[in-house]
Amino acid sequence: MGNPKVEQLFESGLSAHRKLYYNRAFDCFTEAMELDPEMPEVHYNRGLAASELYRWDDAEESFRMALRLQEHPDYRIHLGLTLLHKKEWERGLKAFERALEFEPDNELARLHKADLNFYLTREEGERGTCPGLCVAWFDPRLEDFVGVDPVIVDKNTRKDLREFLSQELAEESCDHTYFGCQEWALKQGLEPLGVSRFLYERNMKCDCQVLAEGK
Ligand SMILES: [Zn+2]
Repeated sequence: MGNPKVEQLFESGLSAHRKLYYNRAFDCFTEAMELDPEMPEVHYNRGLAASELYRWDDAEESFRMALRLQEHPDYRIHLGLTLLHKKEWERGLKAFERALEFEPDNELARLHKADLNFYLTREEGERGTCPGLCVAWFDPRLEDFVGVDPVIVDKNTRKDLREFLSQELAEESCDHTYFGCQEWALKQGLEPLGVSRFLYERNMKCDCQVLAEGK
């Protein structure tokens, strides 16, 4: 990397991404890209940050820019995953096929290619609305988290959250949303969607599942 300012922005972006500050990471990579548009890894990482924020159009654009500058199996695979999130199955399949041309035993590309082929070769009426591996991606609750950074809720703090939930759920049973968690977040001065996003990422998908973590 030639430009020290670009290098610094790139490093800040990587560091923000590791800390789950995806918006900050995205902004760093965007700024780096504007200063030097010819660096494929800047576009690639910008795409990864956009993916974490469920901003699939931005992700697609970034991965395509990276690929315009350099062919790379990781760039292809992430383009493919982005296209699947956008339910563009045929184009996704092509991306995985191209990734496999470069890296024939890439496990992720192989898995998705097989899953897509299985889905696409079935009759319309027999197949569901998406390939088997993608089912969890279309949880309608995810729509609330577009552009939202997760708020880290550490183990100790989750004890406090569970205490709150056990009282809430004793009065009224879980409606399988994050209603209780969001109430708790507001009381703590935390961003409610960021908190639910964090719990979602940890595979706790509603109040009763968060409560069950301690059992
Ligand atoms: Zn529940």
